[in-house]
Parts: sequence; C-alpha cells; structure tokens
Amino acid sequence: MKSNLDDRAGNGDEETPHRRGLYLIYHDDFLLHDPSPYPHPENPERLRVALRALLDSCGSSIEAITPPRRDPFEAYSLVHDSDYMQVVLEASKSPSPAWIDPDTYVSPGTPKALARLAGAVDVAVDAAVDGGLAIILGRPPGHHAGKRGPAMGAPTLGFCIFNTAALIARRLSEYGRVAALDFDLHHGNGTQEILWWDSILHVDIHQDPATIYPGTGFPEDTGGIRGSKANIVVPPGSGDDIYIDAVGVALDILRNYNPDYLVVSAGFDAYIGDFASMRATEHTFARIGHGVRDLSVPVIVVLEGGYTSGLTRGLPAFACSLFGEKYRVSREPTVSSEKAWKSYKAFLSRLNEALHSG
Ligand SMILES: [Zn+2]
Repeated sequence: MKSNLDDRAGNGDEETPHRRGLYLIYHDDFLLHDPSPYPHPENPERLRVALRALLDSCGSSIEAITPPRRDPFEAYSLVHDSDYMQVVLEASKSPSPAWIDPDTYVSPGTPKALARLAGAVDVAVDAAVDGGLAIILGRPPGHHAGKRGPAMGAPTLGFCIFNTAALIARRLSEYGRVAALDFDLHHGNGTQEILWWDSILHVDIHQDPATIYPGTGFPEDTGGIRGSKANIVVPPGSGDDIYIDAVGVALDILRNYNPDYLVVSAGFDAYIGDFASMRATEHTFARIGHGVRDLSVPVIVVLEGGYTSGLTRGLPAFACSLFGEKYRVSREPTVSSEKAWKSYKAFLSRLNEALHSG
C-alpha cells in the first residue's frame, strides 16, 4: 500500500478503475479529540481499532490512505449556527476536557480534529463527484448534532460535535440528487433535524426510540417535504433476521428514490455485545455493504458509533462487502424472538401508513 494518493493521481492512468476508486480518508488529527484523563467510550483508541480492523481485513482493496488537508472548521456553518460553533470553540480553550453536556466532551484538540474533518469532506466530495467511493475514518461522530447543538429535544449531543454526514449531504446536493442512509443503533436526530426541509432523502434504521437515546425517529416523521425522511424502527434485542429485513426495506426506499449520490452514516453499535442489546452480526453488516454497493452510485461513508466488537467485526464485514471483496462469515445469523418480530412489523405498518396514506 502506498502512502500518498498523489502518487496515484500523477501516474497518467486516469481511466483505470482507480479513477473511480476507493479513498480511505484518515489523519492522526482525528485522534486529537480526546477525553483523557477521563474515561469515555468515544475515545481515540476506537479509531485506531477501526483502522487496524479495516486494513487487516480488506486493506488489499485500499491502494492508499488519503490524508486530508485542514480546512477552517467554519465550513460546518453550512449545517450549524455560528453561536453553537462558538460554544465548541470556547469549550476547547479549557486546558482539560470540558463537558458541554453530561455525555459529551470537548478537548483542546477538538477544533483541529474538526478542521481536519472539514478537509476530509472536501476530498470525499471531490471523489464522489468523480464517481468514486470514499470512506472517512474520522471522529468525533456527528449524527446527533443538530443545527444548534442537541437535536429534536434530545437531552445531550450523545458524543457528537458537528454533523459531518449532513454537511456532506448538503455539499453533494449542489451536484445532484442525494440520499443519506444511517444504520447506527441510535436515531440520527441531528441529521433529521438539519435536513428536515431539504429534499435530500434520509433513511434511518434504529432502535425503538421509546427505549433508547435520543428518543426520536418514529415512523410518522416523514420530513418537511413528505417522504423525504424514512424512519425504520427495530425493537431492542433484534437479531440478523430483523435487521436484514430492515436493510431490505431501506434499500427499496433508496432504489425508488434513485439518488445520484449516497452518504452513509455508518455506526456499528448494533453489533452483538458492542453497546446495547442489539444482536446484529457480520451477516447484517455484510448485507448492508453489498446492498450499498449494488446501488451503483458514488458513496461517501462516515463513521458514527461502534465501540468494541462492532468496530472489529461489523466494520470489516460492511467495508469488505462494500468494496466487493469476499467476506466469510463463520457464525450462524442471530434469530429474533416472536415478540420482537411482532413489534418490528407493527413499526413497518406505521411506516407504510405514514409514507403512503392519502
Ligand atoms: Zn450510536
């Protein structure tokens, strides 16, 4: 694996498949958002773990890691109010991590990490417009961050600072029809809030909001432009069978919309044993990767949640499948209870009703 994308750009080989290639966008500045000395599940180590897992499992598809330049983080003003951005900047001036709510810290290195994320968005958007596939392996995560901070009445920002997925969606909408898919365990309330009045399609698979943070994302939320938001709700404890069905529903909605570009908020905390009670395994994440690949549109993936097994097992299954590599799953798919199926089907009926009734 070469270390610099520029080596490749200058080789006069622009019409090879690499031109529409695969960009893994990463920079050590993403580690500067750091809770230490306090323990916190959203910490730099999770990104090291994710990078290692990705390179070990399907690194042969990745010709180079693309280091983004650093942009002013004001690039995020496309999706956030300046007052809120100022709160983050002020909090970062404290010599040790400052808590901007009971879940979420800002550290002295946070603005640098965000500036590097803004640069990563530039690289990724260029890659997508060129027909490519870009994965931003970065942090802090963003899908809970609303225009002015916590979104849709959520009590906290849920470890998120700025909403990178929403920024990418807005940026790409200058070039064509954009859809966003969020498969993190939790609802992408920040993304929904920011994009509520946008025509950008936002499809979100998440745990029943009545049972988990942020408490939003019910099937009846279909967007300021009706049908532009689709919330696919799965009950706690769901296994691969329910998850794979939900992924099929999401893919149907995405195919019907026929986007030119897709942004993926990739969270791996629904993996069994990762964060909560969900029981998705490699089967689910490989299905998502294949499904996204089959849409055959330029894709930008950003990392959201995922803390332990989701990063070491779910992320490789997703990424390898997305890259078109074979990914062998040795375990059997997990099976949901009858009660969970009943609850899931009730949520699906509500979604159909909300999207299709008069
Ligand atoms: Zn999550």
